[in-house]
Amino acid sequence: MGDFSLATRFVHAGERRDAPAGVPASTPIYATSSFIYEQVEDIDRIVDGETSGFVYSRYGNPTVAAFEEAMAAVENGKFAYAFGSGMAAIHAALLASELSSGSVVLASRDLYGSTLELLYSVFRPFGVKTVTEDFNDIAALRARALEVKPAVMFCETLSNPLLKVCDIEECAAIAREVGAKLIVDNTFATPYLCRPLDLGADFVVHSATKFLGGHADATGGVVVAKEEFDKPALLGALTLAGGVLSPWEAHSILRGLKTLGLRMEKQCSNAELLANRLDKLPQISEVIYPKFFEGDQANALDRTFHGSEYGAIVSIRLADDTREAAYRFLNALQLCTRAASVGDLFTGIVHPATATHRELSPAKRAEIGITEGLIRISVGIEDVNDIVADIEQALRAGEAFSRGFSQITLIEETKAATVGA
Ligand code: PLP
Repeated sequence: MGDFSLATRFVHAGERRDAPAGVPASTPIYATSSFIYEQVEDIDRIVDGETSGFVYSRYGNPTVAAFEEAMAAVENGKFAYAFGSGMAAIHAALLASELSSGSVVLASRDLYGSTLELLYSVFRPFGVKTVTEDFNDIAALRARALEVKPAVMFCETLSNPLLKVCDIEECAAIAREVGAKLIVDNTFATPYLCRPLDLGADFVVHSATKFLGGHADATGGVVVAKEEFDKPALLGALTLAGGVLSPWEAHSILRGLKTLGLRMEKQCSNAELLANRLDKLPQISEVIYPKFFEGDQANALDRTFHGSEYGAIVSIRLADDTREAAYRFLNALQLCTRAASVGDLFTGIVHPATATHRELSPAKRAEIGITEGLIRISVGIEDVNDIVADIEQALRAGEAFSRGFSQITLIEETKAATVGA
């Protein structure tokens, strides 16, 4: 570069070196928007699909491609595309299902709130109708599917925060019968517990922000497809709507994915131990954990989850089923975080009524079982004894405060009564 002026050397010196002879042990972050070739014809051949390669990062990036390849491998899919968030992935999966005016989406009524909101706010104005149904009632689901003839059926393997298990095989059979595509959000179960494509789903979607990344440091999403023929539609949704994953985030999530198995093993065993310990506490009226399910839900679990683990999330209902009691408990936590997310390697606890299901009316929340005293615990990899101790002390602190509070109220009531007399 010695022949060029200093200004030019500032711009070009050191760039575009030959790739090193050795293959990097870990996929580098390809922080580049475009790729340069010796001949323009080379670009033509790549764009025409004659040879593989990268031209522009919205159309493909090596770091992102590594994450996509990994996801297709762990979900047993034909291919995967990565997105800038879980919501972008869900949007693309719906777009790639070729919905048009008059199409019906049959959605689980327990879906993540933003997914339903996406269907109502973004797709409805284009004439796509959304009908909700209880996907755990297979007879009702089949009857509804035969009635409304959906183009798409959409469910979650494990619902939030009540952890209902969807019998994917049964849902897939219904989807096939009515000619619908089945999209399964596998965010809460992860491929460690369940692989919906093996059970008949067409698309699996994830918020990679959660368990896949696992370290609360990246936002992303992914769609994994069962069949090759869905590739052009999904690629179109990715490159034209443009919600691509950045190579920086892809690198973080790919690194997270490497320890998903180890993290899930520990998080599931911690969750099971925690659920057992909490089940005996007087301050809790109900511990919701798939291990305790009976009847249809136990059968769905057997058919849907491989292995003998029950997931990393435990929900509890406080005996004092009020918002005040829930807030007292949450504010008294000293180790577990009051995190809005789920699936991180640290324990995160949320109050669904004012967080994930805030937008629903109190009546709607009560109808679906999300009461004010319901708490969702995403169990981390810490020592489980520390998690239990923190939760127990927060429950006791909330209870002590509540006792003190009712004594004060009582004294004031007595005073008021005395004054009144
Ligand atoms: N799917 C589920 C089950 C979720 O819980 C979430 C977010 O909480 C999403 C999708 C959306 O993911 P993101 O926040 O990465 O867009």
